[in-house]
Amino acid sequence: MHKGRAVLLGVIAALLFCFIIIALFAKGSDEIPPGREKVKPDPWTTMIIPPGGSIFSILDDAGIPHKEIATFAFRFGDHVDVTTIQPGDTLRIQTDPDRERITRAMFVQEPTIRHLFEASGDSLRHTLEELPVEHIIRIIEGTLQNTLDASLIRAGLTTAEKQYINNGLEGDVDFGRKARNGDRFTVMLEERIFEGKKMPGSKILYVSYDGERTGKHELFRFETGDEKSVYNGLYNKEGKTNTSSAVGYPLGRIHVSSAFGRRLDPFTGRWTHHEGVDYRAGFGTSVYAVADGDVTEARYAGGYGNSVRIRHRSGTITHYAHLSSLGARHGQKVRKGQVIGRVGSTGRSTGPHLHFGLMQSGRWINPSQLKMVGAEKLNNQQMKVFALQQQNIRNLLIQVQATRGKSIASRYRITPSQS
Ligand SMILES: [Zn+2]
Repeated sequence: MHKGRAVLLGVIAALLFCFIIIALFAKGSDEIPPGREKVKPDPWTTMIIPPGGSIFSILDDAGIPHKEIATFAFRFGDHVDVTTIQPGDTLRIQTDPDRERITRAMFVQEPTIRHLFEASGDSLRHTLEELPVEHIIRIIEGTLQNTLDASLIRAGLTTAEKQYINNGLEGDVDFGRKARNGDRFTVMLEERIFEGKKMPGSKILYVSYDGERTGKHELFRFETGDEKSVYNGLYNKEGKTNTSSAVGYPLGRIHVSSAFGRRLDPFTGRWTHHEGVDYRAGFGTSVYAVADGDVTEARYAGGYGNSVRIRHRSGTITHYAHLSSLGARHGQKVRKGQVIGRVGSTGRSTGPHLHFGLMQSGRWINPSQLKMVGAEKLNNQQMKVFALQQQNIRNLLIQVQATRGKSIASRYRITPSQS
């Protein structure tokens, strides 16, 4: 009894001693230097797209397994048009503890657009957050001094805007022979302003060019109501674009889900070269021949699934793959804009999309180099809508000019189209 009590006391004393030691050590390691807060580890890994970098390369640098990068990138492309990715855009990810799987991701474009992704089972839930941007309609006027390019830049337009206006006027105005210094131009555009700074993605609503020898030319923006429609853009009063050398688009709306060049293969997880671009599109969407030509292949072609190849007069070959159905036969002559098949997911494909390839002199080249145009001439249905839109744009022009060309805070809204 007495002995038992001594043992018990001894044990208690030993425990107390241990507690004191632990408490002392713990206190030592827990001590917070003055002025510093104890922070929780950040669950996000943040990566910035470097010049020349891609989603693939930054995730590879972060040590994510190739197979997971390929799967993630494929689903990512369903929601983000990869051609809009710019150096400086930020990707933040959370992974499982083994860094085997991406569980959450946030992709920040410009400062105003955030794509949030959350893995749930086999799919990736996507939500888009857009910070409110101010829309300003502005008129910019100037005169030609030497080149149109230089004159537009001097008037305050960006390189992208200048290019767009130049392409639009190119066919209508004979700059080589008829344009003269002092010719006048007017541009009305809707700018996107965030925290006082101009963001990319302004819309050119109206362009006029007026010279003694060139005559007056006007261009108006036509919109279908679908932001990604290939028909949105500048047309003259008759509904024509002047890009005779351009080829058509293979689809009516364009969202690039995977670009040309180096990428991780979604099946093998290996680095491969993508011999075309992938456009996201729904099952059964019409696929058009981008130019006149002869069908040199219309069959099931292994990994490409149902595949059509067309040889054009220039010798260029275009390739359309993973089709759900073929709409052309081998040896057939096809016209630009003719339906040659429907979008599908045949062959090595993880979801419905169109693979579009472009071959010149036996080599696949980047199809984004092609100058594509939605329509050389709007159809009758589109012309009805366009007539109303032209009137709206004219009214807006008068309204903004009444403020002496100074910007007005408003947003250009197209008339709701009938389709
Ligand atoms: Zn492809």
